[in-house]
Amino acid sequence: MISSVLPTYSRAPLSFVKGEGSWLTEADGRRFLDLGAGIAVNALGHAHPALVKALTEQAGALWHTSNLYQIPQQQELADKLVEHTFADTVFFTNSGTEACELAVKMARKHFHDKGQPERVEIITFSGSFHGRSSAGIAAAGSEKMTKGFGPLLPGFVHLEFGDHDALTAAITDRTCAVMVEPVQGEGGIRPLPDACLKGLRDLCDEHGILMILDEVQCGVGRTGRLFAYEWAGITPDIMMVAKGIGGGFPLGAVLATEDAASGMTAGTHGSTYGGNPLGCAVGCRVMDIVAAPDFLAEVQRKSALLRQKLEGLVAAHPDVFEGVRGSGMMIGLKCKIPPGDVVSAGYGTEVITVPAADNVVRLLPPLTISEDEISEAIDRLDRAAGTLAPA
Ligand SMILES: *Cc1c(COP(=O)(O)O)cnc(C)c1O
Repeated sequence: MISSVLPTYSRAPLSFVKGEGSWLTEADGRRFLDLGAGIAVNALGHAHPALVKALTEQAGALWHTSNLYQIPQQQELADKLVEHTFADTVFFTNSGTEACELAVKMARKHFHDKGQPERVEIITFSGSFHGRSSAGIAAAGSEKMTKGFGPLLPGFVHLEFGDHDALTAAITDRTCAVMVEPVQGEGGIRPLPDACLKGLRDLCDEHGILMILDEVQCGVGRTGRLFAYEWAGITPDIMMVAKGIGGGFPLGAVLATEDAASGMTAGTHGSTYGGNPLGCAVGCRVMDIVAAPDFLAEVQRKSALLRQKLEGLVAAHPDVFEGVRGSGMMIGLKCKIPPGDVVSAGYGTEVITVPAADNVVRLLPPLTISEDEISEAIDRLDRAAGTLAPA
């Protein structure tokens, strides 16, 4: 008999009842060090006092009104995002998937309104992940995500990740945009080198097409800059954001330049919940904390320390690990054994990690993780790896 919850997830036999900072308490009382942060969502750890205060104060005042009316918290968060990024304008969603939906619509509408309605194709890359909606799975294009769900939304051109020559050849007068994650998350923490992002930007400019970045996982301080594109010294035209931006509250956003967003006039898009007072009250505090220069400098310092210690861990377990990759607090441990085995062994030593594709275990700790907790994490991962037999 089917379970009362639709069985689309294979869940670990753990149920957490409380979170505090980098720690999760299981129903049986065990305390786990959380290096997954709810898949890069709890950017400031669990129960951050400033976020709890923002949420509870807003909850006592007003939860929801809909976008039929002014929402001051939404205005404030949009202003903050515009101040700190390339963007001129922001639309709020409840998730990364919805951000993907709007990014696709916005790019197509941009060219439609400029008299080039034939420009509908969006180029995407293997190993990418853009959400689970019909547009999201069509964008990523992998068989794993799309099989059985056809007909798929047309208009996506899939290329091999990192194949620059194929990219140049694939741009035609039907192309409207390129969509890419600066650091692939689900695909196995694969960073696009800065030179590639720069080259991609140049190519988009040369052909007059839009650059859409999916920073749903790598944004909001995760790589040690507020957004990962900053490392390459470029700016996108459209950017998808979610996960960390709500610090645990379901919140996403599409950021865009005025020109890219020019087709999105009143009535062309909407959301009942998107940008509601609760989510935006929390998002404002997340931005205040993460966008502070000292905070990001600390993320960079601590992630260098974590990276260095992980190199030692890999060297100590050459039968289990092959190497470390990633950027900032978005780190992949490439494994020589199934990554699920490493994640499960971590449950035994009370440390939470997240599996990804390409034989990688993801570490996405809260950006607030302390030096002591980093040492503790290495100790727990070391003990977990020690329990694993060589392949
Ligand atoms: C998680 C993720 C999404 C989808 O976000 P949801 O909030 O799960 O809808 C899209 N793109 C990337 C890069 C992601 O990591």
